[in-house]
Amino acid sequence: MISVTDADALLAQHCPAFADIAFPIQHAVGKVLREDLVADRDFPPFNRAAMDGIALRYDAFTALDRPIPIEATAFAGAPQLELQSPDAAVEIMTGAVVPKGCDTIVRIEDVALKTLDDQRYATLLVPPEPNAHIHAQASDRKRGEVIVPKGQLLTAADIAVAATIGKSSLRISMMPRLSIISTGDELVPIDAEPLPHQIRMSNAYALQAFLSANGFSAALFHSPDSEAMFSGLLSECLAESDVIILTGGVSAGRADFVPSALAALGIEKIFHKVKQRPGKPLWFGKRADGKIVFALPGNPVSVIVCFLRYVLPFLYRASGLHAPAPLSATLQESVEFKPALTYFLPVKISVVQSMLVATPLKGHGSGDFANLVDCDGFLELPEQEFFFPKGASFPLLLYRALR
Ligand code: AMP
Ligand code: MG
Repeated sequence: MISVTDADALLAQHCPAFADIAFPIQHAVGKVLREDLVADRDFPPFNRAAMDGIALRYDAFTALDRPIPIEATAFAGAPQLELQSPDAAVEIMTGAVVPKGCDTIVRIEDVALKTLDDQRYATLLVPPEPNAHIHAQASDRKRGEVIVPKGQLLTAADIAVAATIGKSSLRISMMPRLSIISTGDELVPIDAEPLPHQIRMSNAYALQAFLSANGFSAALFHSPDSEAMFSGLLSECLAESDVIILTGGVSAGRADFVPSALAALGIEKIFHKVKQRPGKPLWFGKRADGKIVFALPGNPVSVIVCFLRYVLPFLYRASGLHAPAPLSATLQESVEFKPALTYFLPVKISVVQSMLVATPLKGHGSGDFANLVDCDGFLELPEQEFFFPKGASFPLLLYRALR
């Protein structure tokens, strides 16, 4: 049996890198970016008018009551103009290139316009300020600068950057093919009426939901507690999938044939059993061709803890995603946990003065998944301690948005 920290290290050591592919930006939001988005021009690419108004030379200002002749009009999308007479001005629209020779814009609201003999004039209502209302070339980013680094989940703002730098397609992480196999003779489909000794299968749907909420999709399968039937199904799934997630059959019961079936199919055990509760029987292995297998215990709470703590970060790491900043929360009341195991304590989270505060939920252990609807996540209480005082802070595995 290994510690949670050792499990993390082994998972990191054996984590593959999923391939990357070119993908149209219209469909890339939420995907993992696998290339740096680099400015192909300065941002902005020219001195850009930030206001409608008149563009002029600051040095030419003498007095507010001097009528300034307007030479031309600069529209957005038109090539750059040049101020012909240093004492004149150019009327300018937001987004237009500031004319050569101009270094200041006075807002249209701060100008009185009049026309005399077909010549337009502006009189300033306020003195100009040097460089006012000009969004200077390269003031946001310089050409060649990385604007969005690889390893991010693409947001709408990143898509806008991709479009701005002329990329209609982006390198993104290829989604792994995932299969989930639930094992257990007691499991029946959702729409079946279970006999008294049976239950409807829920783990696979929980996993599928977590995966899909994170942009991954998975095919679902079920195997009875028969090593032969399980092995048959697993070898079919291995042919079709990059990553397989199993639930059930991995503990120490007599029907727990999963470890031996995995070994028989050539999947090397990297670890089996982690010093934690729930989820102690967790099994992780890899085949020589790179296929990955996570075998999770069947208890619904264990499934969720193992998925959130190990499987999801593993999938993200293999996708090239930077690890998110870790969260932590403060215990609202003291907790005792004697066994020498890391304890994933189900908690309800509230936000008090911008701090996350965790209230332990009273549950019935790893099978009590009805409790999970009141739970926001799990507080990770370290193996070495057994008393966790009120007010102490611990890592938080959050699995729902804060309510
Ligand atoms: P196992 O790890 O196979 O010993 O299963 C542990 C417990 O989890 C048993 O009570 C199972 O009935 C339950 N269980 C196993 N698989 C599922 C599943 N797919 N959905 C709901 N409960 C399950
Ligand atoms: Mg079972």
